[in-house]
Amino acid sequence: MKHNFGAGPCILPKSVFEEAAAAVIDFNGLSILEVSHRHKDFVSVMDESIDLVKKALHVPAGYSVAFLQGGATLGFTIVALNMMREHKRGGYLNTGTWSTGAMKEAKKVGVDAALIASSEDKKFNYIPKDYAVQDDLDYVHFTSNNTIYGTQFKQLPNTNFPLVCDMSSDIFSQVIDVSKFDLIYAGAQKNLGPAGATLYIVKDEHLGKSSSPFMPSYLDLKQQIDKESMLNTPPVFSIYVALLNLRNLIENGGVAEIEKKNIAKAALLYQEIDRNSLFKGTVETADRSLMNATFTLQDETHAAAFDLLWKGAGIVGLPGHRSTGGYRASMYNALPIESVQVLVDVMKHFESIS
Ligand code: PMP
Repeated sequence: MKHNFGAGPCILPKSVFEEAAAAVIDFNGLSILEVSHRHKDFVSVMDESIDLVKKALHVPAGYSVAFLQGGATLGFTIVALNMMREHKRGGYLNTGTWSTGAMKEAKKVGVDAALIASSEDKKFNYIPKDYAVQDDLDYVHFTSNNTIYGTQFKQLPNTNFPLVCDMSSDIFSQVIDVSKFDLIYAGAQKNLGPAGATLYIVKDEHLGKSSSPFMPSYLDLKQQIDKESMLNTPPVFSIYVALLNLRNLIENGGVAEIEKKNIAKAALLYQEIDRNSLFKGTVETADRSLMNATFTLQDETHAAAFDLLWKGAGIVGLPGHRSTGGYRASMYNALPIESVQVLVDVMKHFESIS
C-alpha cells in the first residue's frame, strides 16, 4: 500500500479513480473520451460540475463559474487581463514562486504589478501581515496557499480593492466566504480533479470591464462564461473526474466536514514535527499550511537513513520542492489520516533508533 504525500497532481479518492476508469470504457455506451463535448450527455456533465462547485463553496448569486484550460499559469495572465482597469495596476502580495510568477505574467500583458509586501527576506517562510496597500490599484492579488513553502493565509488581505486569489492548492479544503472575493482561480490537480481543467469563480460585475487594448477570445472571461465554458473543446475528462470528485465531496459532508479532517491531519503531523528533536518545521507556526507541511532534519547528514525508512513504509512524494529541499508532506483532501499516522510512526521510529 502506498501513502501519497505528493504535492500535485495528487491523491484523489479511490472510488473516484474507479468510476473514472469505468467511464473510460463505458459512459452511456461510449467511452467518456469519445463523446462529443456538444452532446447532451457531456453538456449535463458540465452543468452539474458548475452546479456542484457552487453548492460545495456556497457561491452566492452574482458569481459565475468556468472551467478553462492552461492551468493556474495561464490564470496569472487571465486575471491580469480581465481585472485591468483605469490604473493598469494590480497590487501583489508575494509569498513565493507562484505569486512571483503571477506578477511576472501580469507585467507581460501591460499590468504594472506593484509589490504590496513580500516574505522573500526570510525565504518565504511566513505570510506578510503589516503592510500598507497603495491607493491606485485595480485589484489586489494573493496566493492563498503557497504549495512550495507551505505557508497559508489565515486571514484575507485587508483591502477594499477587488480581491483576486490563486487558490490552486487549498480550494475545497476549508470553508471560504466567496462573497469576499472578486475572482478566484485554481488549477484542478489538487483537491478538484486531474490536471487539465482550471476553475474560475468570478463576480459577474467584473465581466467585460477590462481596459486591456487586446483581449484574445479564449482569455476573456466574459466570452467564456457567455459560452458556458464551451467556447472551444473543454478538457472533458478532467471535468468529468472533477464532477465525480465533487459528488464524493458533497456526499461525505462537503467542505465543512473535510475541513475538520484536514485540521486533524495537519495537527497530528505538526505536533510530531515540534515534538521530535530530529526535525524542525520550516514555516512560522501561525502561517503553517494545512495542505503542505514543510520540514527538515535538524541534521541533514541523517537524510539517507530517514529516506530509507519512509520509503520502506510505502510513503511516496515526500521530498520538498526542487527549489527548497527538505521535506514536504502534502495532505490533500483524499489523503487519509491513517497515512499521516504512518509518517508520524516512521518519524518516531527514526528518533528511537538514532
Ligand atoms: N499556483 C499554485 C499555488 C500552485 O501550487 C501551482 C502548481 N502547483 C500553480 C499556481 C501553477 O499551476 P499550473 O501547473 O496548473 O499552471
